Amino acid sequence: MKKLLTLLFTLVLTAGCLLGLTACGDNKGSNGKQTITVYTESGFAPFEYLNENGEVVGSDIDLMSEICEILGYNLVVKDVAFGAIFTNVQNDKWAVGAAGITVNAERSETGIFSDSYTTSVQYVIVKKGTFSEADLTDGKIDLTKLSGKKMGMQESTTGCWLIEDAVDGTKDDDENHVKGELEGTGASYIEYKNAVVASNDIGGKIDAVVIDELPAKSICKNNSELECFQINAEPESYAFYLNKEATELLSNINYVLAKLKEDGVVDYLINKHSGAYNLAK
Ligand code: GLN
Repeated sequence: MKKLLTLLFTLVLTAGCLLGLTACGDNKGSNGKQTITVYTESGFAPFEYLNENGEVVGSDIDLMSEICEILGYNLVVKDVAFGAIFTNVQNDKWAVGAAGITVNAERSETGIFSDSYTTSVQYVIVKKGTFSEADLTDGKIDLTKLSGKKMGMQESTTGCWLIEDAVDGTKDDDENHVKGELEGTGASYIEYKNAVVASNDIGGKIDAVVIDELPAKSICKNNSELECFQINAEPESYAFYLNKEATELLSNINYVLAKLKEDGVVDYLINKHSGAYNLAK
């Protein structure tokens, strides 16, 4: 059934492209198809990670492959620093950022987001025994429980901004300083390439790592000295990040994404890769 759907979409879109109905760019592969460059950061299992052969795999990669196959595009994956995903996409209208990217207002100013395909929450990873039941409220850790802790976060991520705001404080609309939950507690932070690299320093340079739920669970599942807890903070939605000019590509991606969500393909792919561990150091 899925194969049939794929074939149908390919035929419709190839015909559309030939008739000039869809945007056909110059960057074509030897098969004559337009190439989509997917930018990602491979330290974020199960969404993207390196397998034993050093290839970037994961549910975001499978999802984009499926979408590109249905839409009749070639797919090239580029593994870059997380913050560089955004600038690369801003410079290429045939690029897509697929990296468990949280939709937010700041990023929406520089690019456009597809419909959301899943949600997440922030987690904190610590050495076992750091927190007890008494530290939890409804099974979650309040930010204030991170008082005095040295934290490691992946650069340019929502987890990083959550901790930065809590440690340094924020500004209100009148530019007045608003004290952060961790300000003045001795809490501090260091930025890392990704959470896998950061987690190697827990118990050494840092006490904790803050990162999204499934990557945190993947790290803890593969390190018996570590455990993770949900932070009491707002849930986040993941979507693909596109160049502002790529409005037609965006609607095509959204069209296919809706079908893949409806058919349970997105959840299937996330489950398929869950438990996988990033082998990159
Ligand atoms: N969801 C987080 C963000 O968008 C982290 C993504 C990631 O590290 N790949 O900032």
